[in-house]
Order: sequence, then structure tokens, then C-alpha cells
Amino acid sequence: MKNSKKVTDQVRRSDVEIHEIGIVESVRKFIVLASGIPSCVNGQIVDFENGSRGVVMGFKEDYVQILVISMGGEIRNGDKIYNRAEPLSLPVGEGFLGRIVSGICEPVDEMGPIQKDAQFPVFFEAPGIMDRSPVEKTLETGTVALDAGIPIGLGQRQLLIGDRLTGKTTVAIDAILNQKHTGVICIYCCIGKPYASLLRVVQILNEGGAMPYTIIVSGISPAPVAEQYLAPYAAAMLGEYFMQLGRDVLVVFDDLSKHAWVYRQISLLLERAPGREAYPGDIFYSHSQLVERAGYLKPELKGGSMTFLPIIEILQGDVTGYISTNLISMTDGQVYFNSGLFNKGIRPAVDFGLSVSRIGSKAQWPAMREVSKSLRIEYLHYQELLQMSQIRTSGLSKEAEARLKRGAALTAVLNQDRHAPQIVEGEIFILYALNKGLLDPLTVEQIKKFKAEFFKFVSSSAPELIQSLRKEKKLTQEMRVQIEQMLQNYFSKAQP
Ligand code: ATP
Ligand code: MG
Repeated sequence: MKNSKKVTDQVRRSDVEIHEIGIVESVRKFIVLASGIPSCVNGQIVDFENGSRGVVMGFKEDYVQILVISMGGEIRNGDKIYNRAEPLSLPVGEGFLGRIVSGICEPVDEMGPIQKDAQFPVFFEAPGIMDRSPVEKTLETGTVALDAGIPIGLGQRQLLIGDRLTGKTTVAIDAILNQKHTGVICIYCCIGKPYASLLRVVQILNEGGAMPYTIIVSGISPAPVAEQYLAPYAAAMLGEYFMQLGRDVLVVFDDLSKHAWVYRQISLLLERAPGREAYPGDIFYSHSQLVERAGYLKPELKGGSMTFLPIIEILQGDVTGYISTNLISMTDGQVYFNSGLFNKGIRPAVDFGLSVSRIGSKAQWPAMREVSKSLRIEYLHYQELLQMSQIRTSGLSKEAEARLKRGAALTAVLNQDRHAPQIVEGEIFILYALNKGLLDPLTVEQIKKFKAEFFKFVSSSAPELIQSLRKEKKLTQEMRVQIEQMLQNYFSKAQP
């Protein structure tokens, strides 16, 4: 190395041996160029003389490029820099549950220090193919449109994609709220969003009683760039701790398009040649390394799982951008939020035509699969028919009219208020009633009332039906008879 002022004497600082001492050659914003630490590798941590810390991001001719992750004071040219040959690792543990931490796992909620159980590498390598099991359990999202139409399995990576303000965060937060009774640990990672957005999410999770099983990783936009960049990796790392203990984990990344912007900003300062849409060429690698970390471990490795819901924001419905096509190709499916549907009042504004779940239906409860098998196609047919009927108002066949009625009932079933996740058994009962045609004659208001009341009605009059459905996960002949009986009782009593 040219300009190298390498010091070979080994100095001891804290508990880890220092391999090399280098020199800061230049500082530009949060990027430092240093020499004299020739043996360091990418993703490794280095310490500055003034107590600041940095992570190695790359190499340039004679220099090492370092991203400063925590500031211990001003860094100046000529400062010493210590290489201990340690990968970047951060604390993890049970103590993080219920807390809000920064992208470098430091508490930001003023609730005091966090007791760590272990120290994990941030850029952890994803589990290999031999360590994984096929996806076999369902993630109960509590959103009927997803559970019935675009099912997600534990260990799956499902992209939530759509324009601004189309309800992406709401669906992800509802999935977190719905894990209250499932034992799934949740991590919400906020990247590049304003403080107010994070505050809103924290408030909803607090009100919904979700914080005891949730960790919030905050890489909000006023935070240092390094923290925004590291936030999703830290969130995955916090999840890995629980996954390795055999727990199920759900991680929401809100959102990765902002993460790509942050990475672009860092790369431009690193003087890397910009590629497509000015993003650095290795953004695909960077995101795929992240999403690969989701999965379902085999029973010998305690059978834990990590499910990822990355969110991507697009412009005017265009899914062909660089970052969105990358993520579509590296996930197991996507839920597409359509701003047109959202503006028409359809909530959640899920577009079944462009949404897909490639593996989730294998993990769906057989009962849910049975009641929802023709739901997507029926809904799409209904929308076509609806458009046609708006052009031609008279002379519709009886069959078309019946289909319009069924479609309207289906729309009312799929429409759901925010932050009111539904239990799977309840969703199955409602879809059962829909398939039997019992909802066709009802108005939207009546269907709404039925959705709100019927599960409570069954749990008070036949709780054993709910228990056996949860246990068996499929509809037996006796259950069918019982559900029909319940529906009959409900409609004879409750409906005007
Ligand atoms: P952004 O692009 O800002 O991240 P987003 O796509 O994440 O937006 P949300 O913030 O989830 O969208 O939702 C936008 C607005 O629509 C919010 O005010 C939210 O409360 C409302 N909203 C979303 N889903 C529903 C729903 N099912 N019922 C009622 N309101 C909803
Ligand atoms: Mg959002």
C-alpha cells in the first residue's frame, strides 16, 4: 500500500487485539478514506482514535473506504484508525422486545439500556439449502384478501408493492397486530421515512397491544445515513436470534425503495460508477443478500422461521423500475396495491390481477383453500362484468345479474377496516356463507354487520367448533353441518 504508515507493533485496546493501525487520509461527509490497514475486509468494523466507529464498504486503489456508523467526535485527516479484524456485529436478545432501536441497535425510546443476550454479525450469511425446510405453516395476516387470495407461508418473502398512499403500511401493520395470539415475534423496520410516520406506527402498535412481541428498528430519514443503510440488516439480524431459538419471526421492511436511495447516496460518495437509474451496480446483490435471509429452518435446527414483508413504493403504477423488478424477481410473490382501487374506496386496494403468491397456498389451511379456491377468478370476472354493465344497463341475463350480486357481496367481504385483523376461523365462516349464496341478498351494511358479529356468535354458542377447526385445519362433514346450522340460527335471529 502506498502512503502506508503501517504500525506493526500490536497494541491492545479493550478486549480484542488490534491487528493494524492506519491513518485517516480524507473525510467526506460520512465517508472516510484510510490507509495502513491492508488486511481489512468488506463488512468489517474499524475504530477511530476519537471513539468513532466505521464499517468497511470497499477499496479504492490504495485506500480503504469506510462508512462512519457512530460518531465519537470530529474525525480529522491524520487520525489513527484501528483494525481488529472483527466483522460488524451488534447486540441481540429478548430484551429488545417492546423497544425502539436505531439501525445500530442502540435504544432510541428513552427507556434505558437494553440487556443483550448475544452479539450477532449484521451481514449474516443466509441459511444454506440443506438447512431449510419447505414452507408448510401459514402466516395469519388477518387481512381476508391476503389469507384467502394471496396466502403467505411462514418463511416466505412477499413483496408489498404500490404507489404512495395505497395502504401498504396498513396491511403490514395489521399483520403484526394479528400475531398477538400466534406467538410470532414481529420486527418493524422503518427506513428513510419521516419521524411522524414512525410515530404513527408506534402509536398503532401500542394501542393494539402489539409492542410486547415487537421490535422497532428505526432508520428514519433524520437519522445518520449509515443507520438508515444498516437498519434492514440489523432487523434481519435481530430476527435471526429468535429464529435460531426455534421461534417464528415476521419482519416488515418499510420501505426498501428508500433503502436503495440511501445506498445510492453512499455509493455516489464512494465514487462508484452509477448504473441503471443511477443506482449502484451491486444494489441487486445487496438486496438479494438481505431477502435470502428469510426462510424456514429444518427441525434439526429447531425449526424456526423468518418471514419477510418488504415494501416497495412505485410511481404511477409502473412496476418496471429497476428496484421493483429486482425485488419482484427475488421474492416469492407480490401483493400489488392499486391506487385506482384505493381511490374507489376499495380497502385494502389489492389488485388480484397483478398479485401472486408462489408458495403460500401450500401452507394454507385446507379449510381456507376449499372456501377460497375460486375467489380470485370470481372477483376478476366480477370486475369485468361490472365495467360491461356500466356501458350496457339493460338486458342483462339472469346469470349475469346473479354474478353481479355475488361479486358485490364478495367485494363487501374483502373490504376491511384498517387495524381490525380477522381471525382465520372467522374468515372461513364468512367465505363459507358467501359460497352458499347467503350473502347475495344482503346490503353492504348488512354484510359488514354479519362480518363483525358472526364469529362472536359462533364463539359464544359453539366454541368447540372453533377449537376443532383450529386443530384440524380442514372442514369435516360434521363441521359443515354445524356451520350451516349456525348460519341458519344467526340469520333467523339477527337479520331483519
Ligand atoms: P406511504 O406511501 O405514505 O407509505 P402507504 O401505501 O403505506 O403510504 P398507508 O399509510 O398504509 O399507505 O395508508 C394510507 C392511508 O389510507 C392512511 O391514512 C390509512 O390509514 C388509510 N387506509 C389504509 N388502509 C385502510 C383501510 N383498510 N381502511 C381505512 N383506511 C385505510
Ligand atoms: Mg407506508
